[in-house]
Amino acid sequence: GNVGQFVQDFPLCMQILMEGVQQNHHLRYSGRQQLSLFLKGIGLNAEEALKFWQQQFTAMGPGSMSVEKFNKDYRYSFRHNYGLEGGHIHYKPWDCRTIISKPGPTKNEYHGCPYRDLHRDELSTRLQQLGLEDDTRLGEVLELSERGEYQTACTKVFELVNRERIDSCLKQGVKVDESSIVHPNQYFDRNRYLDEH
Ligand code: SF4
Repeated sequence: GNVGQFVQDFPLCMQILMEGVQQNHHLRYSGRQQLSLFLKGIGLNAEEALKFWQQQFTAMGPGSMSVEKFNKDYRYSFRHNYGLEGGHIHYKPWDCRTIISKPGPTKNEYHGCPYRDLHRDELSTRLQQLGLEDDTRLGEVLELSERGEYQTACTKVFELVNRERIDSCLKQGVKVDESSIVHPNQYFDRNRYLDEH
């Protein structure tokens, strides 16, 4: 399927990476790893993944490259993430702890955790774009981020963005997992679960 149609179910870290690759037709190493293993986790197979990355890197626009260059420089590493090259290792999508243990993004990088890595103003704008307009709630998320409680901030955002859907499940007696987010793929799965109920 088309990855773009699921972006609204992605956690903010992955939404930012998607934007990064769409704008630059490229992502640097950490961003490629963070996003490609996440996409593997949501169910993209090796063939679909290669198609996605090739499309992104070769689409018309600034920074884009030829298909030949893509095949020469990048094909191997995306296949490697699927255990199809090199040591044939099964690489797992990064959990939040792994993401947060790595150095944050520098200029022109998009990996990391936005609750840690974005400046307050930028995070605030992003949260408003997600639909968090209430000052108090937005302030709570910013405060959690500033205290270093990134995963709690992310969990809170999930709850605030999905409040109505969560309440409607609970009203129908449908179970909802409200434990802390510890993995970007868990955030996605939780969204898909709500989509289906
Ligand atoms: Fe991504 Fe985890 Fe940060 Fe949420 S807490 S934005 S899932 S790294």
